[in-house]
Amino acid sequence: MSSIALSTEVSDTLDSKLPQQVSLEARSPFELRVDLGRHVPETDVRTALAGGDMGFVHSFTTGSTLDGPGVRVVAWLTGCQYRCLYCHNPDTWTLTNGVPVTLEQAKTQLGKYRHGLNIMKGGFTISGGEPLMQHRFVIKLLAAAKAMNIHTALDTNGSLGGRLADEDLEKIDLVMLDIKAWDAELHRRLTSAELDPVLDFARRLAERRRPVWVRYVLVPGFTDNPQDIAGLAGFAAGLGNVERVDVLPFHQMGAFKWKQLGIEYTLRDVEPPAKDVIERTCALFRTAGLRVY
Ligand code: SF4
Repeated sequence: MSSIALSTEVSDTLDSKLPQQVSLEARSPFELRVDLGRHVPETDVRTALAGGDMGFVHSFTTGSTLDGPGVRVVAWLTGCQYRCLYCHNPDTWTLTNGVPVTLEQAKTQLGKYRHGLNIMKGGFTISGGEPLMQHRFVIKLLAAAKAMNIHTALDTNGSLGGRLADEDLEKIDLVMLDIKAWDAELHRRLTSAELDPVLDFARRLAERRRPVWVRYVLVPGFTDNPQDIAGLAGFAAGLGNVERVDVLPFHQMGAFKWKQLGIEYTLRDVEPPAKDVIERTCALFRTAGLRVY
């Protein structure tokens, strides 16, 4: 869901125990990956989703400083029910584009980073795709990270938050909640999904006093309306548990994936937001009393 910086300090190979000759570790989630789990029988996919003992993973990346506090190891999961017009990883939409990985394999590999992450006060983030498409795998993996004393974060569009029990929320130290738009109709047009479940999850996280970072992708002509931004800022500030807001300027880094996947990409002519529009957006969040990055 966001871009990645690389570091060698916590890097390690993740592919030694993979069931096929595919590297689970990627330089970034912008690597196009398709059909890596297509050989998995449908019944095994259903069993994996029901039990959470296997997951489908686009890739692991290391060294991110953008996906939670400190230096992060990030697991990018496949599967997403949204169809965001600006999505820069549309190869993550399809679950079986990911590599099938057992929970034990994922835990073993995560354990290799434990020491480095603790020294650097970093942590483990699960992103996607929409990770909660595989919520049982996600919770088991985050619980394993917590047991290793690793800080945990979940980057989610929030729409499937109802799948998580209250005790599941305790295993997530930080929820990075992507709110795609404030206007319900725009949200529908932009993502093909409803806004209400996202806001319901945001309110629930507030009631449970779980730390949240709100992420907002700024897309010229779509999400740059000052009134909408002010509305979202007021909502986020009123929750009381939003520690910061990340304003993420739209970019075209994933455009090649749409082309290679043969999907029509309607934002091909949209430019990244101008500096003054980014500053105005940040100012609207700050005016509401929020910290903005
Ligand atoms: S939530 Fe939107 S941006 Fe994120 S993976 Fe799904 S379609 Fe792409």
